[in-house]
Amino acid sequence: MTQPLQDRVALVTGASSGIGRHFAVTLAKAGAKVAVAARRTDRLESLVAEIAAFDGHALPVPLDVTDPDSVAEAVRVVEVELGAIGVLVNNAGLVQAKPALEIDEADWELVVGTNLTGAWRVAREVARHMTRMGHGGSIINMASILGEGVTNQLSSYAISKAGVVQMTRALALELARYNIRVNAMAPGYIATELNRDYFETDAGKALIRKIPQRRLGQPEDLDGTLLLLAGDGSAFMTGSVITVDGGHTLAIA
Ligand code: NDP
Repeated sequence: MTQPLQDRVALVTGASSGIGRHFAVTLAKAGAKVAVAARRTDRLESLVAEIAAFDGHALPVPLDVTDPDSVAEAVRVVEVELGAIGVLVNNAGLVQAKPALEIDEADWELVVGTNLTGAWRVAREVARHMTRMGHGGSIINMASILGEGVTNQLSSYAISKAGVVQMTRALALELARYNIRVNAMAPGYIATELNRDYFETDAGKALIRKIPQRRLGQPEDLDGTLLLLAGDGSAFMTGSVITVDGGHTLAIA
């Protein structure tokens, strides 16, 4: 039986852990050839082996989204090794918790430079590649519910994700003529290395009690949205931001 993403080439950034790692497996199970990209290449090798174990196809690609040369080289390698990229999962990101008054220039650059500038850099490079190849494609940006709402000590993160939301809309508008769709998913709290320590604290446990579904999301809770946005079922969707948060943003207080 033909799989939904049979032989489509997907690039997943931030594939060495958490959501990106999980997404790479999901896309490979859907038939895609997956380029898995991040800085920690040892972790990428074990992911490629895991995907090969179910006869999936994956390629490890070293990538630092804060380095323009690294981004250009990663896209070049994927083009040479796998062919035209049809799906970009623009997922690499990090979080830093600090009071707004204590954030210095280096802190800001780390968070905004990775989450917003890095995501923009990868989207631009892949979109240029897609237009050159003449096939169009689907770009999926990882925003967050903190791209709309805010919470204490995460101002640089929330600002970076708000930028990702607006980047999604702006690129969707300009790239539609090239048959490139640009959408975002805005997850609530998903259990990964990014937040594991926090959710073991009393404050973290109290936060979970405020989520209407009374639980953290798991990476697999995002699979439906990923496969929708990556595949042809979303052919008429662009510029959309899909919230996946167990109802977290419904509550007023
Ligand atoms: P993890 O910390 O588990 O994974 C982050 C990934 O980003 C790692 O693979 C890391 O790889 C990569 N990364 C970080 N900096 C760079 C860089 N400079 N260049 C290339 N890759 C980089 O986080 P999550 O899986 O939880 O988060 C993934 C995305 O989802 C992020 O954008 C995050 O903001 C977003 N998100 C997460 C939520 C959550 O609750 N977990 C909720 C909403 C959104 P390496 O260090 O090897 O380079």
